[in-house]
Amino acid sequence: MAVYLKNRKSESEIDHDDSMVRQTVEKIIREIETEGDAVIRKYARAFDHYAPERFRLSDDEIQDIVARTPERVKEDILFAQRQIRSFAERQRASVLDIEVETLPGVFLGHRNIPVSQAGCYIPGGRYPMVASAHMSVLTAKVAGVKRVVACTPPVDGKIPEATVCAMHFAGADEIYVLGGIQALCAMAFGFEEMRPVDMIVGPGNAYVAEAKKQLFGKVGIDLFAGPTEILVIADETADAEMVACDLLGQAEHGPTSPAALITTSEALARETLLEIDRQLGRLATAEIAAVSWRDYGMVIQVKDEQEAVQVADELAYEHVEVLTRNPDYFLTHLSNYGALFLGPETNVAYGDKVIGTNHILPTRKAARYTGGLWVGKFLKNCTYQRCTEAASAIVGEYAERLCELERFAGHKAQATLRVKRYGKEKNR
Ligand code: NAD
Repeated sequence: MAVYLKNRKSESEIDHDDSMVRQTVEKIIREIETEGDAVIRKYARAFDHYAPERFRLSDDEIQDIVARTPERVKEDILFAQRQIRSFAERQRASVLDIEVETLPGVFLGHRNIPVSQAGCYIPGGRYPMVASAHMSVLTAKVAGVKRVVACTPPVDGKIPEATVCAMHFAGADEIYVLGGIQALCAMAFGFEEMRPVDMIVGPGNAYVAEAKKQLFGKVGIDLFAGPTEILVIADETADAEMVACDLLGQAEHGPTSPAALITTSEALARETLLEIDRQLGRLATAEIAAVSWRDYGMVIQVKDEQEAVQVADELAYEHVEVLTRNPDYFLTHLSNYGALFLGPETNVAYGDKVIGTNHILPTRKAARYTGGLWVGKFLKNCTYQRCTEAASAIVGEYAERLCELERFAGHKAQATLRVKRYGKEKNR
């Protein structure tokens, strides 16, 4: 039986926070849907203190930003983009169009067709999240999306230039400096010169994640990718300094970012709790990390690896780091996670920024039913079929009876007509 040495906020407190966010988002979406562009401008001014003449950056503005961005920054961005592109291209190649003959004369197939227009949200309220541009824009382009719109909020009222560079290098066709609920509505409904897109992707804070959820249907979305989460699974071989460092490294994202440790070692649990206090004393982002650790931090002691898997699968966290003697045990047995980091040599920061896997990942237990963003999310798996006359007559007889079973007269008529046209009667 798992023992909670430190637990997080109660479910009812979390539900209360969720309902406040839900109501705010509902109200803003309704206002924007009915009153349009002026309301988008109003919220950009209110939330982000940003009121430019045009939210879209012109080609000249983008070129100027690229020209004044330091070479080192550009090289680092391009290095990260090469890694992400390389993995995404291999994933794309693994998605195959097929056509098979399932019965004599019956040919069934599917094609993976990219969505035509995608809107990528690149977060930036608290930190300029440069890497999210590679993860969404570049992945959309590798998937074959023709028109990619990219939106990011200003940071401290200014254009986040490194993020703009990354969006541009990744292949964004239109770049807007616009954030939050208003940016998602702009992409869903259209805004000034921006035409609406077919699908919105990307991570964000609780407002952004909720807005995507509420806009689903009007547009497609990738997945629920809200405030980031980390789970470390560790045994007595792990280094408490590293465990604490990796937990706080995610807790710094925002005050609602869950960080949890599951361990078979009570000694490691105790040492990690002390280490967290020590590191909070010197971490530059401690003000935020301390709040999220206080409200959303958890330390859970389990009896063995099997129980660790069971608790981890129930939590279904976004990032799971495994710092145990045998990390591959977890690769084999875990089912619910966004991304897995095996062994102390890698870590979430590598995955989030540079190594090549995608960092737009499921949160709030969405890992029970989806993985993270990848080229496949931009592809529509569309089936088709054809058959010979002889096959049509055979399938038609089954279809007639099955339609009758469901009392679908019109469906049955379609089948009957084929049986008549292509079956034995044809030759009478
Ligand atoms: P953000 O871009 O998501 O949000 C900033 C916007 O929030 C602002 O532009 C503003 O318009 C809006 N906003 C702020 N306060 C508001 C309020 N009271 N009401 C309505 N709207 C409001 O940037 P952020 O806030 O820094 O958050 C980034 C988030 O993205 C973090 O929570 C991080 O953990 C998450 N993230 C998740 C993943 C993932 O894959 N799950 C990946 C990267 C980042």
